[in-house]
Amino acid sequence: MTLISKIDEKHIDKNEIKKQAEILKKGNTVIFPTETVYGLGANALDEVAVSKIYEAKGRPSDNPLIVHIYDKEQVNDLAKEINENAKIIMNEFWPGPITIILKKKDIVPMRTSGGLDTVAIRMPSNPIAKALLEEVKLPIAAPSANISGRPSPTRGKHVYEEMNNRVDGIILGGDCTFGLESTVLDLTNDIPTILRPGSITKEDLEQVIGTVNIDPALERKEDNIKAKAPGMKYKHYSPNADVFIVSGNSEKVIDKINELVNNNSKEGLRTVVMCLAKNQDKYKSNTIVLGNNLEEVASNLFNALITADEEKYDIVYTEEFSNDGVGRAIMNRLLKSAGYKIIKI
Ligand code: AMP
Ligand code: MG
Repeated sequence: MTLISKIDEKHIDKNEIKKQAEILKKGNTVIFPTETVYGLGANALDEVAVSKIYEAKGRPSDNPLIVHIYDKEQVNDLAKEINENAKIIMNEFWPGPITIILKKKDIVPMRTSGGLDTVAIRMPSNPIAKALLEEVKLPIAAPSANISGRPSPTRGKHVYEEMNNRVDGIILGGDCTFGLESTVLDLTNDIPTILRPGSITKEDLEQVIGTVNIDPALERKEDNIKAKAPGMKYKHYSPNADVFIVSGNSEKVIDKINELVNNNSKEGLRTVVMCLAKNQDKYKSNTIVLGNNLEEVASNLFNALITADEEKYDIVYTEEFSNDGVGRAIMNRLLKSAGYKIIKI
């Protein structure tokens, strides 16, 4: 049985937080909202508890977990060397949607770090996540609360439908603000490197720590370049529907999609288009509006992919977005959910 708690982040029910914290203290699993996506948590220092996360998600065991904390001081317990860049990032962006990778102390089990000698750490800003972590007083490993390979849930409804009875507790706490997983920044080498793009961008980071690299494996399909974040190599964010990115001049993209939709419907395939609000009326098919700007697109993207499945579409066409700012993170997730299938006009 899964204990379900509905919590309003503006009026946090301490009693419910306590009940869920007890579950974590006993070495069991609890799903909770964060400002990025919902996380599936367990005690990061307890190998058996962490194994339950991998089991609930069907996650490959070499894919390490992000450890969530409520107090910056906890980094001292988990990481060996806290370099200058780490201190700057922690001060500038925590609590918030960025994860840093540092050399780990022995207290962090290999099961948590996926066999690596480094640890990924984040301090979330979501009030429910903060309250829970503070009540448990343990570092909590928490990957996204989806079955491995599926889009990450950003809405309570989707968490419940996918994970009820696979975990011991679920806190339903509304919609996630950013909607994409945290930026993952490796700080173990001379030049900081983004291993996963997110809402905190390369440009945001360069303003405070100077040159930042991007893992070259991120933007290519070929498997001969090994991604530094093990999780980035897997098929990910994939709905059941077949997703295609349609790329090119905006008017031509719309014409092309309308032509494809027409052909699909002759074959009895159900098609939907994911688009910006301003383009919705130009499509001759059902649409899922992603928003008016990149921030809204980020926040709605996973919800849209899961909705496409709920509504049993066979094919999803999506507009392409610019690689500027959070656009890089959006395109990274879209390319993966499309299995890199791009229709170029
Ligand atoms: P998730 O927990 O589902 O948001 O995924 C966490 C992401 O961070 C995955 O892509 C992991 O591979 C990556 N990650 C976690 N820990 C490390 C680490 N120590 N080194 C490199 N990447 C990591
Ligand atoms: Mg994930």
